Amino acid sequence: MLIDYANQGENLTMARKSITLTDTLHEYLISVSLRESDVLKKLRQETAKYPMAEMQIAPEQGQFMSILIQIMGATKALEVGVFTGYSSICIALALPAEGRLIACDINEEWTAVAQRYWRQAGVAEKIELVLAPGLNTMDRLLESGEGSTFDFIFIDAEKANYLGYYERSLKLLRRGGLLLVDNVLWSGRVADPSEQDLDTVAIRIFNEQLHQDDRIAISMLPVADGLTLAVKR
Ligand code: CA
Repeated sequence: MLIDYANQGENLTMARKSITLTDTLHEYLISVSLRESDVLKKLRQETAKYPMAEMQIAPEQGQFMSILIQIMGATKALEVGVFTGYSSICIALALPAEGRLIACDINEEWTAVAQRYWRQAGVAEKIELVLAPGLNTMDRLLESGEGSTFDFIFIDAEKANYLGYYERSLKLLRRGGLLLVDNVLWSGRVADPSEQDLDTVAIRIFNEQLHQDDRIAISMLPVADGLTLAVKR
């Protein structure tokens, strides 16, 4: 049953919302909670030199993702959008020794960095890199009978394809499997109607569709650039 929040404006305004994370408070949060390995720290420093560095997930987000994987005891994971490998290391480290992560990306240069750090982090054996468009890789997995077998999927790739990744994820996940979707608050642009670029509109439509989709349980968190958790029913 969906609640009509549009008619509950007053209640929502009065409700306790998430704390505003000033730079100072964010630094404090990091200082008392982040446990980042030297390899991940080095990867973050190297990635900062790339022009697309903002595509890397926040370290506290990676740590959060690791915890989720540990809680659910996931062994089979899929990532769409590898970039330089920070999130895949966080996922793979949380998987058991026999765990497996299929990592999808199309960029050879970035994933070469990722592979170098996967080896340094000791998780290369757990990760299978597939250099091809994510939608195609997901279709191939479904064709080869891997539907309903994944415990965990992380989507962080082409925003215009989010709904396509989502529909395939629902087929690939087992019941009770967890889907995480990155950048759902898109630097706040999703809430600004004057922003009408393709990616913003795509994320807005994506968010609205998931809200209405009773195939999943949903929670959207203001972690980093906005993170949606969806559990397949
Ligand atoms: Ca991202």
